[in-house]
Amino acid sequence: MKESFQAIRGMNDITPPDSFRWARLERELRDWLDAYGYHEVRFPIVESTALFVRSIGTATDIVEKEMYSFVDGLNGEALTLRPEGTASCVRLALQQRLLYEGPRRLWYQGPMFRHERPQKGRYRQFHQCGIEALGFSGPDIDAELILMTARLWQRLGLSEVALQLNSIGSSAARARYRERLKSYFQRYFHDLDEDSQRRVSTNPLRILDSKNPGMAALIASAPQLAEDLDEDSRRHFDGLQDFLSAAGVRYTLNPRLVRGLDYYNATVFEWVTTRLGAQGTVCGGGRYDGLVEQLGGKPTPACGFAMGMERLLALLELVDGWNAEYPVLHAYVMNQNQVAWAVKVAEELRAAGLRTILHAGGGSFKSQFRRADASGARYAIILGDAEWEQQRIALKPLRGQGEQQSLLLEEVVTRIRMDE
Ligand code: ATP
Ligand code: MG
Repeated sequence: MKESFQAIRGMNDITPPDSFRWARLERELRDWLDAYGYHEVRFPIVESTALFVRSIGTATDIVEKEMYSFVDGLNGEALTLRPEGTASCVRLALQQRLLYEGPRRLWYQGPMFRHERPQKGRYRQFHQCGIEALGFSGPDIDAELILMTARLWQRLGLSEVALQLNSIGSSAARARYRERLKSYFQRYFHDLDEDSQRRVSTNPLRILDSKNPGMAALIASAPQLAEDLDEDSRRHFDGLQDFLSAAGVRYTLNPRLVRGLDYYNATVFEWVTTRLGAQGTVCGGGRYDGLVEQLGGKPTPACGFAMGMERLLALLELVDGWNAEYPVLHAYVMNQNQVAWAVKVAEELRAAGLRTILHAGGGSFKSQFRRADASGARYAIILGDAEWEQQRIALKPLRGQGEQQSLLLEEVVTRIRMDE
């Protein structure tokens, strides 16, 4: 026997009826994004490795150990499967000159790749929907993004997600804070796990983002950034909180929220749920005012966030009405010797807006009935020799009561529509 193939560990197939739930979520996201005037961009899955290294930062989980990087065997280029979308989105905006005529509200969605330890809610290929507002400096846009997400949870019927908020200040403020943190963690060096020991000197802020429960107590007592916060960031953060309070959005200030990527500054936020175990962050984002310039553009303030689609769908599994299936078929068209006629009838039903499967592969009417039943269709349409001679169509309800009727095509359409 030949060896069979398996998907790569941590990379999932999506099959019916889950594929329907994905498509439904994607539709809902589009409607929601349209409502706020955001425009979609699509960028490649593969980009140059340097783009991610420069934007995400070298001393981060993603760049240190999670990227699928490889050398293109044909021309020697160093390439990486995108681990996130912000860097690519900014690269696209610069390359395509999207910022020439002022600020832009953009979004993207699709697969991302990170070599993590696969577990529930954490995969090696996962999907994000991300939103980037490029060219806006005020806290009003931070508030817009957060209000948008709050609206989305409401539209989807999700109630158990809570907002955590922090400001990580300017880069100068973070530099001061980094020194204080470094000396704090150095004092407890031997209590740190291996990753954190390495980071004390390279990137002590990252330690705050550690997922290791053994580190929690030490992190909880670590110094906080608030006292190093610069005046501009403080004013911005106060402004944002005023907007949120006025809009009635509840939030928790979390001084240890730093986010795992280096490009963030000032506002950072996460939407977190307790319903998904350890992988409870469904959405994370913040300001990245330095990134556009860092990638070769003019200084351009910006703010954005990304949602994990797998985690959103896992939450939606707990919501009534989200276990939906593909739409029910109206008709299953059975045929024997009159295949050409059956093709024509099926096409006319579809043209009239009825979801229709045309039986393929021949066989007795008895076996075709079994297929019709299994398809879940509401009606079987039988096109045999007798029907062809009379140019009438036999219509049989497959669910509940009802006699088989002999009808003209227009009558079939009317009859099926009567159920709607
Ligand atoms: P986490 O702290 O859970 O590792 P992160 O801070 O690395 O998340 P971001 O880079 O901010 O995540 O990505 C935004 C969102 O994408 C996360 O909040 C999460 O919902 C989702 N996400 C990130 N990594 C994965 C993954 N490996 N599998 C599934 N979803 C993910
Ligand atoms: Mg991560």
